[in-house]
Amino acid sequence: MSSQGSGLLPLDEALEKIRAALKPVAGYAQVTLAEALGRILHEDILSPIDVPGHRNSAMDGYAVAGSALPESGEKRFRVAGTALAGAPYAGSVGPDEAVRIMTGAVVPEGTDTVIMQEKARREGDDVYFKAGHRSGENVRHPGEDIARDTVVLSAGRRIAPSDVGLLASLGIAEVRVNRRLRVAIFSTGDELVPLGQSLGEGEIYDSNRYTVAAMLRRMDVDVLDMGVVRDDPDAIEQAFTSASQIADVVITSGGVSVGEADFVKSTLDKLGEVDFWRIAMKPGKPLAFGRLGNAAFFGLPGNPVSAVATFYQVVQPSLLHLTGSSDTGRLRVKAHTTEKLKKRPGRKDFQRGILESDANDNLVVRSTGMQGSHVLSSVSRANCFIVLPAESGDIEAGDEVTVEPFAAFM
Ligand code: AMP
Ligand code: MG
Repeated sequence: MSSQGSGLLPLDEALEKIRAALKPVAGYAQVTLAEALGRILHEDILSPIDVPGHRNSAMDGYAVAGSALPESGEKRFRVAGTALAGAPYAGSVGPDEAVRIMTGAVVPEGTDTVIMQEKARREGDDVYFKAGHRSGENVRHPGEDIARDTVVLSAGRRIAPSDVGLLASLGIAEVRVNRRLRVAIFSTGDELVPLGQSLGEGEIYDSNRYTVAAMLRRMDVDVLDMGVVRDDPDAIEQAFTSASQIADVVITSGGVSVGEADFVKSTLDKLGEVDFWRIAMKPGKPLAFGRLGNAAFFGLPGNPVSAVATFYQVVQPSLLHLTGSSDTGRLRVKAHTTEKLKKRPGRKDFQRGILESDANDNLVVRSTGMQGSHVLSSVSRANCFIVLPAESGDIEAGDEVTVEPFAAFM
């Protein structure tokens, strides 16, 4: 268990254990570019062509032989014709000739340099260039951007909008992507009421299922919403059994804290192998992880902020690993806190913060206020976690802290 002997499992150790236990999905699908956004590439993509495919002009101007340009003064050239993008100049160009050329047009035979039009003096069928140009300027060469047979996108990459454009520019209309994960979710608790019903005494609306479903949708997985399950052994067993039969991953919330764990634990023990961990993070100490039949299982704490934080810190990287993604989606930066932050040594804190740039473009961060694990509005107002190391105590205003902006798919 813990290296500190506190009975708490450090977050990094939990993540390592999970990684070791989960094998990325093997299946793939062939999809068109229109369907490829957000999917995970199944294989390396090699460019079938050189980009650009031909020597072409980077400017509107005149194509000439660099060796014919003047060493001093000004020199006259005869304009022999025009080269447009998509309409090349057919002939070969002599040393005392130039060709009017537009951006993207093929640089004609006999020339290797483009003088931009602002640097040329046109007089009728003649054009004059001064000394001082570099032979070869303003010409783009085949394969300069991408050479044929080089890897342009690697397996494991989450396909971004610019990747879709890149694939199109290579003439690639379809790609193989990893199959989508199927993730079943349900909430447990007798106090939970589905939306659309009014609340009785002591009852609350089930919010976790909506938060978790929304976070999953951002990750481009198939969400199987199995609703609210009562705190009843038979109902729980039935829900776990059917979820594990249809999904790659089962995620529940509630029922993993000390008071309730025994009850859920006995059911899980019958159906698979699940460990109940106490993770050295705040919020989100209790977490269950293991296997239910062939499905991976995550049991999140019921407190809404704890559920979000453990989903974000534990489940999200694990699902990325399962989908075969090479992307962690994580970025950590340093920022100065504008106020004192309360922190007790012991667990790693993920406080909710608002990260901003100050007038000098330096990053500053402040707390969203009440940090209780039931205060979901503290997450809603936040755009980052303020990550405070386990051993740290209070942080003073002006101190530098580590900040983790919410990932794009959060
Ligand atoms: P539990 O982990 O089941 O002991 O729940 C801890 C706290 O989280 C309790 O106050 C529950 O009412 C609350 N809670 C549990 N599940 C949910 C949920 N799905 N939505 C909102 N609050 C919940
Ligand atoms: Mg409960």
